[in-house]
Amino acid sequence: MRENWIAPADRLGSLPPYVFARLDELKARAREQGLDLIDLGMGNPDGMAPRPVIEAAIAAFENPLVHGYPPFEGTADFRHAITEWYKRCYKVDLDPDSEALPLLGSKEGLTHLALAYVNPGDVVLVPSPAYPAHFRGPLIAGADLQTMELSAEGNWLIDIQAIPEDVARRAKLLYFNYPNNPTAATAPREFFEEMVAFARHYEILLVHDLCYAELAFDGYQPTSLLEIPGGKEIGVEFHTLSKTYNMAGWRVGFAVGKSEIIQGLRTLKTNLDYGIFSAIQAAAQTALQLPDEYVQRVQQRYRERRDFLLAGLAELGWSVAPTKATMYLWIPCSVGMTSADFALDLLQKTGVVVTPGSAFGAGGEGYVRVSLIADCDRLGEAINRLKQAGIRYDYSTVGVS
Ligand SMILES: *Cc1c(COP(=O)(O)O)cnc(C)c1O
Repeated sequence: MRENWIAPADRLGSLPPYVFARLDELKARAREQGLDLIDLGMGNPDGMAPRPVIEAAIAAFENPLVHGYPPFEGTADFRHAITEWYKRCYKVDLDPDSEALPLLGSKEGLTHLALAYVNPGDVVLVPSPAYPAHFRGPLIAGADLQTMELSAEGNWLIDIQAIPEDVARRAKLLYFNYPNNPTAATAPREFFEEMVAFARHYEILLVHDLCYAELAFDGYQPTSLLEIPGGKEIGVEFHTLSKTYNMAGWRVGFAVGKSEIIQGLRTLKTNLDYGIFSAIQAAAQTALQLPDEYVQRVQQRYRERRDFLLAGLAELGWSVAPTKATMYLWIPCSVGMTSADFALDLLQKTGVVVTPGSAFGAGGEGYVRVSLIADCDRLGEAINRLKQAGIRYDYSTVGVS
């Protein structure tokens, strides 16, 4: 028998272990021991999809025409709903046939885009920390991954000046994401203008992940790459219904932007999948057409949780600036601990689950991500448990920076 007959392909071996999977194991063990976990680890919204969305799905199920294979390129109705939504939010005109593509969740598209556009050895620029799909997709495609380190001092924004000239010249794709997961950072419009100028100069395809388009607070309105002059000529943007509409399990998102890039992704996907169940596309269309009050209520809910948790963390010594968007807080670990040790310590002593920053790449070390995916009662319980376990943040030992 050949020695490696059952070994998976090298591309699988090159992937770092998926930290969420490891965290799941530890959570399962803690549960077996009878611990009441407060899981603030994943970016998985609590609660149900909006009632009109559920009703639209049920009504669609009754339609005999939706039970077959959906069209590869998505239903025309959903694609029109996407471009109308875009026009309403960003005043950008998009062609529903060539500039919008429904996806089985945006993670699917973000990953497959790399397979569609990256040859082995091509340079792909990715921030560190980053949402794992932004570097795992390129790794699967065999990319020469070049990381752009983010830092607290740089407000977790990409520093384009720090990218070496020869790397920029060779780069094929650049992934970025503001409002940002995991750091909750937001980027000013000028930053987007700089990115577009940079990408045009070096002829790099920009891949912007705007999955927190609506989860913004205090009047802040996130920027779309496509509303920046020239943005649509150089890039694509990914959106999801998972977060705003509590539809993470439904698997529905979309890509919009430069038609050639959308076409490449569509071509790859026609070889891999059959698209989204039409009933779910009908429901997603309803979601995008919900009145503004729905989104305002969602924003209100996350803002309340943000304020509540910030106040609780402040009592424990963490001084964290209020976030303008996302469903996360990004907080420094207790001094002298790695993010994995700190998250593990927290899990074992309190049953509170957070995500170690290292799950998002080396640039996330020293921090943990806390998701606002529980109501204020549960968040209060989490803070109490930290208090009782004596877990605090001590600035006096950090040194003044
Ligand atoms: C949650 C999340 C996604 C995943 O969205 P799906 O549409 O559910 O696949 C993509 N990007 C970022 C940055 C996220 O936080």
